[in-house]
Amino acid sequence: MHSAKHRLLAASDGTAHQLVSHHFGDQTYGKKIYIQAGLHADEIPGMLVALTLQEELQQLEKEGRLRCEVVLVSTANPIGLAQVVLGYPIGRFDLASGRNFNRGFPLLAGKIAEAVEGELGGDAKKNVATIRRAWRDLLLAQQPRQTFDDLQRALMLLSLDADIILDLHCSREAALHLYTGEALWQQAEPLARYLGASASLLAVDSGGQSFDEAHSFTWWQLQQRFNERFPIAHGSTAITVEHRGQRDVNDELARKDAAAILDYLTWYGAIEAQVKPLPPLAYPATPLAGSEQFYAPVTGILLHCVEPGARVSAGQQMFVIVDTTDGTRTAICSRTAGILYMRRDVRYVRQGDPLGRVSGEEVIRSGYLLSA
Ligand SMILES: [Zn+2]
Repeated sequence: MHSAKHRLLAASDGTAHQLVSHHFGDQTYGKKIYIQAGLHADEIPGMLVALTLQEELQQLEKEGRLRCEVVLVSTANPIGLAQVVLGYPIGRFDLASGRNFNRGFPLLAGKIAEAVEGELGGDAKKNVATIRRAWRDLLLAQQPRQTFDDLQRALMLLSLDADIILDLHCSREAALHLYTGEALWQQAEPLARYLGASASLLAVDSGGQSFDEAHSFTWWQLQQRFNERFPIAHGSTAITVEHRGQRDVNDELARKDAAAILDYLTWYGAIEAQVKPLPPLAYPATPLAGSEQFYAPVTGILLHCVEPGARVSAGQQMFVIVDTTDGTRTAICSRTAGILYMRRDVRYVRQGDPLGRVSGEEVIRSGYLLSA
């Protein structure tokens, strides 16, 4: 293993953040895995999974069993980690700008297409290499204005040529679930099986320009644009894994999830080991646009009626909100049958606040599909 430090644009005089990446294996196999955690810096479960992976990868490397290059960034957001307000860590949003650290990644398909138009040919793999080169050049040519943009650019530069990209997050109170591109499901499904994912949410473009979509949507757009004329091989499989809820931080879970990720990498051929039989899929993949998002119809004390990961039937009571002055109770029921894969961690809500989400098979939403 060797480590590299990437100094980020200073936010103010006398301060500096740096990103550290750990590199395993070598490039001779022509395959690359990229794993990061903590892009939302207050989501600690994935960071512990990444550190567990770091130990395991060092051992695998020592034993000469890595069949690919692995880049691991266990602390993907040093800016967010430094943000504390009145004792509370704030890691989801950049305090300086209000921007969500996992939204608004640069989508460069249009510019990449312009740059490679004359260079593409009939070799689908060569076209991938050409696109990756152009993509890198475009990112290097950018002049980030703020530390936030510099961080996003640094993470894209570390990952854009990877074949498998895992972005480890967690939700508020949640069962393990994942997000990936519709076209990537076949490649991602074994990971959902090994991890025992309670839900797998698929979208082409959720509208949020999240890190995984900055990869998958870019490849999808380029394939749509050129496929008639130039074949483009599979660029990358980018997956966001939600390692349960924010407080689900312990070694037992981290070891379990890290082992599942290593099983997936073995299945992929990145590690020399016996491929473990694929466990059954806990729940079929569903469209992200099919998830029902619940909102508080009134203000009051929030009582949860369903545990994360539980199956829900249409019409089932999900939440009760108790009025704080007269005790009136308002029940909120699901219109959707599926899995309650996440819910809010607060116990008092104001009218209009989001409460939780149930996966569903029927598309019921459009436009922007993620949370803020
Ligand atoms: Zn997150």
